[in-house]
Amino acid sequence: MASDVTRRQWHMPHLMLLGLLPLAWYAALASGFAAAAVLGTWLTLNLAVLMLAEKWRPHRREWSWDRHHLQRDGVVGGFNVVVDAATGAALAALAVTWMPGGNPWSLGTQIVVGLLAAELGSYWVHRWSHAEGWLWRVHVTHHLPDRLTTSNALMAHPINAMYDKAAKLGPLLILGLSPEAVLAVALFGITQALATHANVAGTMGPLNWIVGSAELHRLHHSTDETEAGNFGTALPIWDQVFGTYRRGDAPTRVGVFEPKRYPSEFEIQRLLRLPFKQVGPRFAEVIKRCCPMGAR
Ligand SMILES: [Zn+2]
Repeated sequence: MASDVTRRQWHMPHLMLLGLLPLAWYAALASGFAAAAVLGTWLTLNLAVLMLAEKWRPHRREWSWDRHHLQRDGVVGGFNVVVDAATGAALAALAVTWMPGGNPWSLGTQIVVGLLAAELGSYWVHRWSHAEGWLWRVHVTHHLPDRLTTSNALMAHPINAMYDKAAKLGPLLILGLSPEAVLAVALFGITQALATHANVAGTMGPLNWIVGSAELHRLHHSTDETEAGNFGTALPIWDQVFGTYRRGDAPTRVGVFEPKRYPSEFEIQRLLRLPFKQVGPRFAEVIKRCCPMGAR
């Protein structure tokens, strides 16, 4: 059962990380900022704080991470961190080549616009991923676990990691935002991705109207279809605009509506193949229609 602390006390680890974020950003800029080192350090710090908090004050004791879950999320998540970094580097290289860059707005405006733009891209690819179809066969890997923990944030199909990165970073590059603004958005995105999955008791209170939280995101992972909105992770604003914002008590169960339709959450190889299962026959069908000789 969910801890009563969830309703009565502030979610201090999430608040603390959000409070530290501007300092981390300033420190990164002051040190001449090597993006990979800054983002890697911030990711590690956030993981450490939230995972210790999960042991210290869990939202649900039965969701506590163990070696089995940690090994799976460590392998899949570690690979996804590399995929995320490679996608970011490829997009940045494309932007340098094809886009003029430069933005006349103040740094503060760039950060605010960047946060909104990154979240808008992420909101729509996430929402489209929940329609039955190819994107759902990619995204279902992230929804299969029947518990929600910090490390679950990294448990996703690598294709999911790739298109989510493109959806978040693409708009910032198109807008020509400065590296300093992109770094601020990226640091905020890391904290929000991890904290919204963390199995830590505590509430964000009225801040739930402004920033994404574990309280909101647990509803997104609910097995009860009526509760499952909240496609935004970092900010709830686009859920509020497009009518998918949900508030309520913590869900009794998280996972997918019909788990028997899918491989188990530990069958990684089958989950990796899942998006391609129907591609082969469909591709063969197209070949058969357009050039019957080739299909034989
Ligand atoms: Zn989802």
